[in-house]
Amino acid sequence: MNIEMQCCGLILLLVVFFFYHRQKKIYLTTEKAFVRIFLVITIGLTLDILSLAALKYMDRLPELLVDLTCKAYLATLILTALNGIFYVTADIYDNSPGYRKRTFIYCTLAVIGILLVLFTPIYKNVENPDTLYTDGPSVLITYAFCMLFFVVMLVLVIREKHQMNPKRREAVIAWLLLWVAASMIQFLNNNRILLVGYSGAIAVMIIYLKLENPETNLDRQTGLFNQNALIQYINQLFSMKMDFSLLVVCLPSSLVRSNPEADRRVRIEIVRYISSLPNCLVFKGTENEILLLLQDTDQLEQLAEQLEERFNSGWGHNQEIQIRPDWMMIPHGSVMNRAEDILFCLQYARQNSIEFAESGSVILDQDFASRMYEEWLVEHLLDDAIKNDWIDVYYQPIYSIREKRFVSAEALSRIIDGEGTVYTPDVFIPIAEKNGMILKFGELVFKKVCQFISNHHPENRGIHYIEVNLSVVQCSYEHLADSFIEIMEWYHIDPSMINLEITESGSVGTRKTLLDNMQKLIDYGVRFSLDDFGTGHSNLNYIVDMPVDIVKFDRSMIVSYFDNGKAKYVMDAAMHMIHGMDLQIVSEGIETKEQLDTMEDLGISYIQGYYFSRPISSDAFLSFLDKNYAEIPEELENGIG
Ligand code: C2E
Ligand code: CA
Ligand code: CA
Repeated sequence: MNIEMQCCGLILLLVVFFFYHRQKKIYLTTEKAFVRIFLVITIGLTLDILSLAALKYMDRLPELLVDLTCKAYLATLILTALNGIFYVTADIYDNSPGYRKRTFIYCTLAVIGILLVLFTPIYKNVENPDTLYTDGPSVLITYAFCMLFFVVMLVLVIREKHQMNPKRREAVIAWLLLWVAASMIQFLNNNRILLVGYSGAIAVMIIYLKLENPETNLDRQTGLFNQNALIQYINQLFSMKMDFSLLVVCLPSSLVRSNPEADRRVRIEIVRYISSLPNCLVFKGTENEILLLLQDTDQLEQLAEQLEERFNSGWGHNQEIQIRPDWMMIPHGSVMNRAEDILFCLQYARQNSIEFAESGSVILDQDFASRMYEEWLVEHLLDDAIKNDWIDVYYQPIYSIREKRFVSAEALSRIIDGEGTVYTPDVFIPIAEKNGMILKFGELVFKKVCQFISNHHPENRGIHYIEVNLSVVQCSYEHLADSFIEIMEWYHIDPSMINLEITESGSVGTRKTLLDNMQKLIDYGVRFSLDDFGTGHSNLNYIVDMPVDIVKFDRSMIVSYFDNGKAKYVMDAAMHMIHGMDLQIVSEGIETKEQLDTMEDLGISYIQGYYFSRPISSDAFLSFLDKNYAEIPEELENGIG
């Protein structure tokens, strides 16, 4: 009787079961699909052995029993193939009506197949006791349905390859190949070797080893579920449109100072306690974080209180060790879209949440997620802008009261995306400064300004220099001066055509680098302005220290000059001191004739503002200069922009 292979297969499955059963599992959809495959294949192999035994002792058994045993085995083959499809789609499971409809179709087909198998004849070949096997319509129908399901599996594996876990894909392909090879060998050997059942056991083994080994979801150190498991589990909740809450316990990096053994013991105690909490799954996050996931979001608050109380009562033998963890809470995971977003959100909170930094606890709600997504979008925008050359420089003319014409302009960057949407700097500059992209961005803006000067020679239209904004981050970059000098040399720019605008920078270290950069650039021939004077970012002391030629009065200063009596005196005093230091003043944000006249009366040298012109594209700026350079200055005083 040729049942050796089947027995080997069964033993193999028992070994897998032994290990699988003992391991801690999280019960993902894919895990459940694997368990189903395991069961069907095990039942199949058992029935395979039973049917061979029934064939052998056919003369002593009722024919119906023999037939039924053989047909039950055939039915498990169809069920195995059906579960193969479910295993493939476990990753792409989304509980959508489309998915449910397809599941229904596959199940109906399987039921039809099994009924056909049951009600069509089966022929039993028992002449040679060494090669017992069955054939006939019932067997052919089984093969036909199995083939059909294999083709579906194959199509799914190919079509959904981007959505499938790559390891699952490989395992499923290996399984399909094994199956085909086993069927061929069995067929070519006239059923002397029955390999199909055995190959199923091998497939289970491959899948188990490759990706269903629950160990791969565990953190070795703590025994908690790891990030891999967290990502899979959360993605599964998202795909099933189920809400959940997360509570993150952020332990200090050292729990018991200078006693690693005690530290380790307390860590184990904490992990044990948290693992024992009911109704939540516990994961290991980054190095010192433990994440608790609850599907019943109403219990979050209670759980947080319970944990806090436990931490308050101390750890160690005599509860003598006090630990104050930080907390992060996501009350509703459903405000985000993917597991990766949740992890990003936690990281974003660690780095950006002032509340978290100050109080050690933060609730990451819808508002927080929206801010995070917005920032994320802007980061992508900046990335695309740099890659696709979407950065544009607008120019806002600056008027000289003494010369009664436009003598300079401020370069103000814009991003214009592929669809022509214009983004102003308030959207992207703060984020570019935060993530460091401002260095690349600032360099590109500077290149564009130099290119503009080199191509269009605005000096021939009365422009003495162009003012370019520098961010504090750029100023504290030690190679800034070298990189800017290189750019000016490349475009053959006269350095006196460039005036760089800086604002007050905070730390002493930053100021040293800034001054070094400034000195190098000044030696090269570039001059500087102090921007945003009067906003608290620039004060008088700062002007004394900084080698600047121009001070730019912020729009807010001009506005309060007209609004409030005291501001007048502050501005008067500042103006006299600045002029006393032999520096020029540019008034920004001048919008009306009244403001212009007052600035003129005060003795301010330069005016920038909507009254004359908004920031305009380089072409518009050139036309503006063409128009105004030739015209009579009086006309300008009636306002243009
Ligand atoms: P800023 O340096 O103070 O530039 C002046 C801002 O005031 C510009 O805004 C300008 O459009 C606006 N403005 C000018 N005149 C008036 C007026 O009469 N009324 C009003 N309400 N506003 C006026 P913009 O272009 O949106 O730029 C905002 C800020 O972004 C700039 O403020 C500057 O700090 C920064 N920025 C712009 N381009 C760059 C750049 O290339 N690099 C860096 N680091 N920062 C830049
Ligand atoms: Ca500026
Ligand atoms: Ca300014």
